[in-house]
Amino acid sequence: MPRYNLQKMIKLMLPGIFLMLLAPVIHSQLHDLNIIQQQLLNYMPPLLGGLAIILCISFNQGRLLLTTINLLCLFLLIQNQLQTSLSQPANFVLFSGLSLLFPLLQLFINFIPERGLSSRWLLRHLPVIISGYLFFWLAAQNHLLSAWFSALPVGLIQMFSDPYLLSQWAVYLFAVTTLLGLVILWFRATLADACLVIITLAIAAMLALFGETSVSVLSCTLGLILILFTVLFNSYSMAFIDELTGLPGRRALENTLRSAGRRYTLGMVDIDHFKKFNDTYGHDVGDQVLRMVASQMKQAARGASVFRYGGEEFTIVFKGMDEVSAIEIAEKVRNTIAAYPMRIRDKNRPGDEKKGRQQRNRSNRPEGTTEVTISIGLCEKTPQHKDSQAVIKQADEALYLAKQQGRNRSVASHIAQPRARKTSS
Ligand code: GH3
Ligand code: MG
Ligand code: MG
Repeated sequence: MPRYNLQKMIKLMLPGIFLMLLAPVIHSQLHDLNIIQQQLLNYMPPLLGGLAIILCISFNQGRLLLTTINLLCLFLLIQNQLQTSLSQPANFVLFSGLSLLFPLLQLFINFIPERGLSSRWLLRHLPVIISGYLFFWLAAQNHLLSAWFSALPVGLIQMFSDPYLLSQWAVYLFAVTTLLGLVILWFRATLADACLVIITLAIAAMLALFGETSVSVLSCTLGLILILFTVLFNSYSMAFIDELTGLPGRRALENTLRSAGRRYTLGMVDIDHFKKFNDTYGHDVGDQVLRMVASQMKQAARGASVFRYGGEEFTIVFKGMDEVSAIEIAEKVRNTIAAYPMRIRDKNRPGDEKKGRQQRNRSNRPEGTTEVTISIGLCEKTPQHKDSQAVIKQADEALYLAKQQGRNRSVASHIAQPRARKTSS
């Protein structure tokens, strides 16, 4: 199971924390709005909610879609049914009901695994969200709510006398939902999980401070902005970030090369004998190796940008550098990886380990570790290159030379061959 740390959780929650800190500042300005501005503000949640729904469907973000609908339904009921004092029994019952319904539905959403959005998936989950709000809306329309007031349990009534309007039961429910959200965030560490936690907290704060003017429209607006940000960021990541290694992918490389200017050196990197590695230890271990190489390259190639080109090939872009400066960094990267004691986590049967070593012709490694090496071909952009594709092609030819000369080495296109080096590691 992947071990994610607190730092990563906080980083993922930062956009939401930022919006939550911004809320009191914006709230302090809302008193100065005139009626028209106030009404325009009331249109924000439906507007942003509509946009969020379209984007969530377009980018297959099921749990964020359900959270958007949960938030929108809550806002619409508050807007249409809860604009008079809570001291009216019907309003109090509705408020109590909504303060339980929202966290309960978020709890439900937390449990749903993120799969592709299909109409069957929607049919299975959407009615759960809608029916809860429909129930309260119908009860309000039929004037049934005030009659239920006397039946409310103490856990809900108590808040009448509290400075904060969140009942004991609602506090428990919000706490459980938040805790579960945090546990999921700890293990899965996605921006969507962080977004769900923040929205749960924001709505708890909104309900606790329900007496303040415009608190519901402000919280729902900020919550929907966070959802929109999360969906857009996720879709950006899907398009530009390679999922396995976390490195930017080919599309991001193309963007970078477009804006790299006239002077740069490009390095094509390829893992040596990777196929044998896959064959010996299995595809999962092959993936572990790719992740290790990616993270070591990123750390060692300071001042340069690393991309996953595809398969077991990577690209390094050295902006503003000639081949002489670039090969210094390339060699540092290559040596770092060759010196890294790669631990084989699974399928680590002694037989396999021995076989692997023999096949890869390696020795003198600590027990349970193996060595991974890379070859690098470099090419500096010159006026002779028609476009970045031509630079990639020439770097690839240098990489081919590095392979031919025995692997675990860097070869630069414009540096005379004797300077191409192999350092023992
Ligand atoms: P060379 O030193 O000449 O580069 O030899 P090689 O074995 O590394 O080269 P080759 O191109 O023959 O093999 C590349 C292998 O990389 C083939 C494929 O099985 C493996 N591969 C490509 N993408 C992935 C991936 O995402 N995960 C894993 N585990 N393996 C991959
Ligand atoms: Mg290859
Ligand atoms: Mg290879």
